[in-house]
Amino acid sequence: MQQIASKHKGYTHFLYVNDVKALEQIFSKLGGKLKELMEMVGSGTYFSQNDEAEFDFTDSGLRPVYYPMGLVNRFAEIAKPNTKNRIETCGILCGSEKDGKFYIKNILIPDQEGTSDSCTTLNYEAILSYVMEKDMIVLGWIHTHPEYDCFLSSIDLHTHYGYQKLLPEAIAIVISGLKVPESEKVKAFRLQDRFMDEIERCKKVGFHEHSLLSRYMCEECGHAELYDPAKVGITVHIDDFRGKK
Ligand SMILES: [Zn+2]
Ligand SMILES: [Zn+2]
Repeated sequence: MQQIASKHKGYTHFLYVNDVKALEQIFSKLGGKLKELMEMVGSGTYFSQNDEAEFDFTDSGLRPVYYPMGLVNRFAEIAKPNTKNRIETCGILCGSEKDGKFYIKNILIPDQEGTSDSCTTLNYEAILSYVMEKDMIVLGWIHTHPEYDCFLSSIDLHTHYGYQKLLPEAIAIVISGLKVPESEKVKAFRLQDRFMDEIERCKKVGFHEHSLLSRYMCEECGHAELYDPAKVGITVHIDDFRGKK
């Protein structure tokens, strides 16, 4: 995982990439310098530590992230063919910030490689241009567990680390394909702050052990709440980029 950061208009912009080759490709395609790219990316993916006072923090000290339940169900529906074949599906949660609150509006389904216990995002370039074009922020990710209950696996913890480092409020929504009660079907997680360093230092890949079982290193998000998009005049959608060039 590689971190690049730049300062622009008083914000510190971070971009985390776990695929340096992809990053190099983006640079050469855009023909730009690192700083210029960061300035472009900055509007889509940033967090700022400079203006916390303006924000409305929840009990957890995090700004609230609102997600539309309808959108999660629609994602589950789109993922169904994979779920039936016991293959995971993942999507990226995009949205914007208003009055110190984050609103998830879109799910981008990127090119991906799914298995029964993992889902890898491909083609970062398309994701970056999507968030830049729509002037949105990446607020986390969503994925299905066709064969498991809701928790973050060791691989998921590493994936989420990238999102959470980018934005402490980032959420990981997990949808279980098991026959479980409705309240256990969909959950929003984050990595417990005290384990951020351990995951940052860990260089292992694939499924592996950490100091604790993965399910005890994540926590359910107290700052994630449902919202009714119609009430706040937001139109939500899902953009499926799979197989598109
Ligand atoms: Zn998972
Ligand atoms: Zn690890």
